[in-house]
Amino acid sequence: MSQDAPTNTIRAQAFALGHYATNCYLVFDEDTSEGWVIDCSWGPKPMIEKARELGLKITKIILTHAHVDHLAGIDEVRKAFPDAKVYLHEDEADWTSNAEKNLSAGHGQPFTTEPADVLLKDGQTLDLGTTTWTVHHTPGHSPGSVTLHCPALNAAIVGDVLFHRSIGRADFPTSDYDQLKKSIKSILYRFPDETVCMPGHGEPTTIGDERRYNPFVPDPSVAAR
Ligand SMILES: [Zn+2]
Ligand SMILES: [Zn+2]
Repeated sequence: MSQDAPTNTIRAQAFALGHYATNCYLVFDEDTSEGWVIDCSWGPKPMIEKARELGLKITKIILTHAHVDHLAGIDEVRKAFPDAKVYLHEDEADWTSNAEKNLSAGHGQPFTTEPADVLLKDGQTLDLGTTTWTVHHTPGHSPGSVTLHCPALNAAIVGDVLFHRSIGRADFPTSDYDQLKKSIKSILYRFPDETVCMPGHGEPTTIGDERRYNPFVPDPSVAAR
């Protein structure tokens, strides 16, 4: 993350896991060794092993949303870090027990698991070390998609909302294309241009880059220049 951020002991490492190379993240404070797991795809072992190697104390398992490619490895992660609480937006509270909604049924391997421990709400904050992360409800790809934004680090974990030069799929029964574009424009594009976005698939990008070059959600205020 940003070199000259006021707090520079926070690190993020991506692991592209499972059938769709879903980016799952270890976000941790080198100073205190507290860490979060963001999303749990199939085969989370490399992420678990890295957390152990770093001696991290995982306190939170946060799901950006509950599609199976972000959820399928959760039992293994929970077992590895039994003290960690699982966080999921309230609008997908029942998706952990619903294989249709979490898309695993359609994938041919119905998957259900225990409910989340904590239901996230828009605007709430979560602290990691000395940094504060705001939970933004950014629906559209799925109704309970969240973006985690850390203003002090100019960093955002955006799940399947916004990708490098692309956006999340909106063709699922519970998706809403207009709402997805609205979430991007009215929430993500208001973050500073230098904000680094860590997406659920593919390479990282920045808000400034996407405002200028994203073909699906152009920002007229910069495109016009
Ligand atoms: Zn998804
Ligand atoms: Zn995904």
